[in-house]
Amino acid sequence: MLQQTQVDTVIGYFERFMVQFPTLELLAQADQEKVLKAWEGLGYYSRARNLHKAAKMVMDAHEGVIPCTYEALQTLPGLGPYCAAAVTSIAFGNAVPVVDGNVIRVFSRFWGIEDDVRLPKVRNEIFDRLTPIIQDFNPSHFNQAMMELGALICKPKSPACEKCPLQSECVAYQTKRTDQLPFKSKAAPVPHHTIVVGVIWKAGQILIGKRRQDQMLGGLWEFPGGKCEPGESLDGALKREILEETGLHVTVGPPYCAVQHAYTHFKITLHAFPCTIDSGILEAKSADELRWVSWEMLKTLPFPKANLEVLKFIESLLQNAQISQFSSGLL
Ligand code: SF4
Repeated sequence: MLQQTQVDTVIGYFERFMVQFPTLELLAQADQEKVLKAWEGLGYYSRARNLHKAAKMVMDAHEGVIPCTYEALQTLPGLGPYCAAAVTSIAFGNAVPVVDGNVIRVFSRFWGIEDDVRLPKVRNEIFDRLTPIIQDFNPSHFNQAMMELGALICKPKSPACEKCPLQSECVAYQTKRTDQLPFKSKAAPVPHHTIVVGVIWKAGQILIGKRRQDQMLGGLWEFPGGKCEPGESLDGALKREILEETGLHVTVGPPYCAVQHAYTHFKITLHAFPCTIDSGILEAKSADELRWVSWEMLKTLPFPKANLEVLKFIESLLQNAQISQFSSGLL
């Protein structure tokens, strides 16, 4: 949960998750949908899918015992070098250095490394140089201390060098280059996509699709729709996307809402519209499954964040009884 996510955000999710899935066995036995629902809103859903798969693998292939070595941990889904080093050192006391963004900043300054810290070779160099050093320390304390040093003292801007225990041997400090190191090349501009989705009503139920497992946000439910192509109108794109995904021709109603959302590598504006079916035969052409659900059922299923905002909007309409103005012929 803590990958790419701040502790304050994680605490509530972690506590609820541990109540719902207190043992590896219960997690392994749970439906993926329940795991995703418990993760809903935390983002980076591949972490939830991988954690669930890893729990199954530990139960099936390791007799319920989590492997303890750096190498064996990396055979579990979702555990790369960073996570495996953290678990093997902090949980099992093995001397493997954790190299996260904070540690890279500390040691690129300490050793005066001038290469672009986006390059994997910088991470590898720091890992190789720290490996003999950590052998002389308590690995859990060493790794946590280095990560904290980066988070609290050797901050990206204005590092508190006067409080730093590494000061006397720090190349960046001694050469007055703490504002130049680490060197990080500019990130590519983040693309923006316009997304359209349809809330298709029929007899009080709404049509939703389950995203394919191999897709981003796989296993989550969503309203049918997709990306607006250059030159397309919003309702034109929505009609095309719904036809391509479900086989249905629809009429698009007046807009519900527009939601802004940022993912790691792109941003979206998602426009939601109520829709009614004109013709066609329902068929899941790109989703794993299409399902008609009641409003109550819909709230029990896991949705991506931007779709949750659409749900909130619909809920406010329902609560204000304004749905009637949208619902003539739509419900
Ligand atoms: S002396 Fe300053 S720049 Fe060097 S490691 Fe410590 S806080 Fe970072």
